[in-house]
Amino acid sequence: MNLDMYLRGHVAAKIRPLYIKSKCEHCNSTDDLHLHHVKPFVKIVDKVLNKFNLELKDSEDYTEQERYLIVSCVLSEHLNGEYLTLCPQCHYNVHEGNKKRRASLSDAQKQRLKQIRLEQKEKLKQQKLDELNQQRVELIDQQLNLRLSSQEFKQLAEKLNFKRNRKLVKNPIDEIQELGYTIIKKRINGYDYKIITKTTLDKSQVSWYN
Ligand SMILES: [Zn+2]
Ligand SMILES: [Zn+2]
Repeated sequence: MNLDMYLRGHVAAKIRPLYIKSKCEHCNSTDDLHLHHVKPFVKIVDKVLNKFNLELKDSEDYTEQERYLIVSCVLSEHLNGEYLTLCPQCHYNVHEGNKKRRASLSDAQKQRLKQIRLEQKEKLKQQKLDELNQQRVELIDQQLNLRLSSQEFKQLAEKLNFKRNRKLVKNPIDEIQELGYTIIKKRINGYDYKIITKTTLDKSQVSWYN
């Protein structure tokens, strides 16, 4: 059987009862209600196949294990889905409307849409990074103006190197500087100290900077 058909059977049995409403959400008809996927069904299937590096085949051409994997993942993807209950006519209209909208887009508009989607993705990524950096800034703020010996500084640097963000961490010293802090060295009572400060210092104006 065509994989989509096969999976739609599982969705009809397990997912439809969870989401179907008692009347069409567009016209209130109660006849032969369909569950419309706001995120297209085929996209969900493709996502799952991609995840396991599987090709699209007829359902019986997969191993039993593969089929089990596909069915369970497609069903679990459906649990976060968005659906509309629609009568056949409204369902048809929604799909036709989508088709027309897509067909009427010029190549330039399609390109632009793609661009917007990419930019949104990038923005989200940046927001996450900013949040992480904010956490680090807070940590540094607590330590601000503390005079640290080399050993203490090393400990602080290690602390900044949050384990769960290991990928983001380059050299902690670089990171501190990227966050707008300056590390200055100062010799006090014969000992070298590294001081983290928020003030941007012009090295030439600080006689004891080395
Ligand atoms: Zn639909
Ligand atoms: Zn309807």
